[in-house]
Amino acid sequence: MHEWSIAEGVVRTVLAYAEERGIAKVEEVVVSVGELSQLDLEIMREALSMFSGGTLLEGAKFVFVIERAKFKCSRCGATWGFDEVRDSVEKEVGVRVSDVEGGEDLPLHYLPELVYAYTKCPRCGSRDFEVVGGLGVKIVSCLLYTSDAADDGESVDLGGRRII
Ligand code: ZN
Repeated sequence: MHEWSIAEGVVRTVLAYAEERGIAKVEEVVVSVGELSQLDLEIMREALSMFSGGTLLEGAKFVFVIERAKFKCSRCGATWGFDEVRDSVEKEVGVRVSDVEGGEDLPLHYLPELVYAYTKCPRCGSRDFEVVGGLGVKIVSCLLYTSDAADDGESVDLGGRRII
């Protein structure tokens, strides 16, 4: 599944970084997950913990931050987020769309198709737009412990290393 290969990529990227620098342990990894990436975070968490087993990442805490969807109109250059078009998408679909935190309505899982089908530029009404945010998965930062200062947490910015 999607989640498993991405989780493997995250673990492999962090391990390569940590091993190169003689890091003793990775304490925390912050992963940015696009609102439109269609990932099941529960499965992601399970997969991350499985791939971490027996490595420096074993027991590390994985924190997910949601990167909001962002669209850019190809005609007039306006940019907007899903929140700004949520109402009109819901009106056209006739169903309430749940937010990122989940809900009992239409699950986020269906969001990308709906967005592509029903979103239009709030300024000029064009349906010719591109997605410029909220699709990928990136490693934002890692909290690392070095072997010579095992008590000092060192936080590194991995510069948003893109996994997908
Ligand atoms: Zn426009």
